[in-house]
Amino acid sequence: MPTTLTRTAAAAEAVELTKVYGSGETRVVALDRVSVTFRPGEFTAIMGPSGSGKSTLMHCLAGLDTATSGSARIGDTELVGLNDRALTRLRRDRLGFVFQAFNLLPTLTAAENITLPMDIAGRKVDQEWLDRVVATVGLAGRLHHRPAQLSGGQQQRVACARALAGRPAIVFADEPTGNLDSRAGAEILAFLQNSVRELGQTVVMVTHDPVAASYADRVVFLADGRIVDELSLPTPDTVLDRMRRFDGAGRTS
Ligand code: ADP
Repeated sequence: MPTTLTRTAAAAEAVELTKVYGSGETRVVALDRVSVTFRPGEFTAIMGPSGSGKSTLMHCLAGLDTATSGSARIGDTELVGLNDRALTRLRRDRLGFVFQAFNLLPTLTAAENITLPMDIAGRKVDQEWLDRVVATVGLAGRLHHRPAQLSGGQQQRVACARALAGRPAIVFADEPTGNLDSRAGAEILAFLQNSVRELGQTVVMVTHDPVAASYADRVVFLADGRIVDELSLPTPDTVLDRMRRFDGAGRTS
């Protein structure tokens, strides 16, 4: 990992980030000059109605999609203008991902799935860190099982451990509990929270679930491609309350 003596305060940052899909009749402004900062060691939830730009924001910040204008940074690295190869390397070396689908390789054990991205990258595994991640995730007894031998919740824990194994600058989680029952979902959310509180990681999670969002330190609300509000120390009730107000008032501009 490079030494970053002049590290900025942000783990990730968007400044006036704009994403336009299509042109003419089919033109859609998915992100409309979005500016937001994700600080290191913070767990942020991104919420908003369907089509409000949540996935687009995450994808542009994670180098999975390219913005039309503005700036998207991971630490000190500007993503806008990077070529595909550089983006692939950035994702591989500095980011962790947890998706709704667990995306594990069925022929590999849990342990092999967890270290696969590092093995592919030829990076040495920091065993002490990995042991902490596995202990935090609560997978110690399941490391030699294959995905088919694990419950959905356990598979998602493997995916979380895989996302954290390389000690990324930031973990992006896209509806990580979408395929889980509420108990397994609560375990994953508690784990993501612990990875921030105990391991000092940085997590940004897209969710539509107020209970899931309440595990975060902060909720950012999107509507029509713009950030319309923020909430610190959310509870399910305060999140629901905000969501109802947006439903009633529409865009606040
Ligand atoms: P959310 O994640 O909040 O549901 P999205 O970021 O997926 O919202 O989408 C924001 C807007 O951009 C929507 O109007 C959506 O239809 C549009 N959009 C998303 N991806 C594409 C695409 N690949 N091509 C065209 N329009 C898109």
